[in-house]
Amino acid sequence: MPYHMIDGKAIAQQVRNELKEEVGRLKEQGIIPGLRVILVGTHPASESYVRGKIRASEEVGINSELIRLNEEVSEAELLQKVTECNKDPAVHGILVQLPLPLQIDTNKVIATISPEKDVDGFTPVNVGNLIIGQDAFFPCTPYGIMELLKRSDISVEGKHAVVVGRSNIVGKPISFLLQQANATVTMCHSRTVDLPFYTKQADILIAAVGRTEMITSEHVKPGAVVIDVGINRKEDGKLAGDVLFADVAPLTSAITPVPGGVGPMTIAMLLKNTVQSAIRKESKR
Ligand code: NDP
Repeated sequence: MPYHMIDGKAIAQQVRNELKEEVGRLKEQGIIPGLRVILVGTHPASESYVRGKIRASEEVGINSELIRLNEEVSEAELLQKVTECNKDPAVHGILVQLPLPLQIDTNKVIATISPEKDVDGFTPVNVGNLIIGQDAFFPCTPYGIMELLKRSDISVEGKHAVVVGRSNIVGKPISFLLQQANATVTMCHSRTVDLPFYTKQADILIAAVGRTEMITSEHVKPGAVVIDVGINRKEDGKLAGDVLFADVAPLTSAITPVPGGVGPMTIAMLLKNTVQSAIRKESKR
């Protein structure tokens, strides 16, 4: 069966181009969106994610700054930094790169970020607002998935969406966003008995597990749309998703690759949230 490869790279570029124009318009009004990224330690994956986020934000004209704190920083010092960013009028978006070292209570740090500047959409206020359908910053990966579906003309209404994974940053929020878009949603996790029984019913299957290529043709209904969120490193050093692409793709009507699917959208939506935050704040002045 011919399938459509959802090109996350191209769609993310589209979003970034639109944002660049938007930032240009804001600058004419004297508004410069500002992002602060706080990185604790020198974890190589975090370093690479942060570099990507800073580069992409500069590309669209967001004024971004990296705040580096050393691995031994105390919780109090980190909270102080977040509070400074909360108060700084030039900052519209704050992102604390996770994971944080063990001496720091991650939940406490997230809860300290002002909800109006929480462009990662992780604070309890934004999560709560998302669930009750109020205005909120959506977490970037789920927001990116919704944008991928929309821009690929894949309608969600009335479809059965099955989400594998229930993390706070992907599985839970994407389930609520899909439900708000009028899908019927089933959530699966590590204790689900007979996973293929559920996944085979999916019109839209979201894999957000973190297990290399565990979703195979046995899990997929012919004609389904498959969104692979997983980013896993194989033994040979190559990146792989949660979906065994070569086996699953021919069964689908549309599928995202890894890399080049959901990943690029995550950064694009971070930029979108930051620009949105600047617009919201300035419209309140
Ligand atoms: P977590 O480890 O926080 O959550 C994984 C989820 O998968 C859990 O809910 C877990 O269930 C479930 N799970 C684990 N094993 C199984 C199994 N055998 N069958 C069914 N469910 C299972 O991961 P994240 O949500 O943070 O990330 C998931 C993947 O997405 C990772 O590969 C990560 O790298 C990637 N990712 C990609 C992003 C992107 O930009 N593309 C952004 C964020 C993440 P339980 O709750 O029961 O433990």
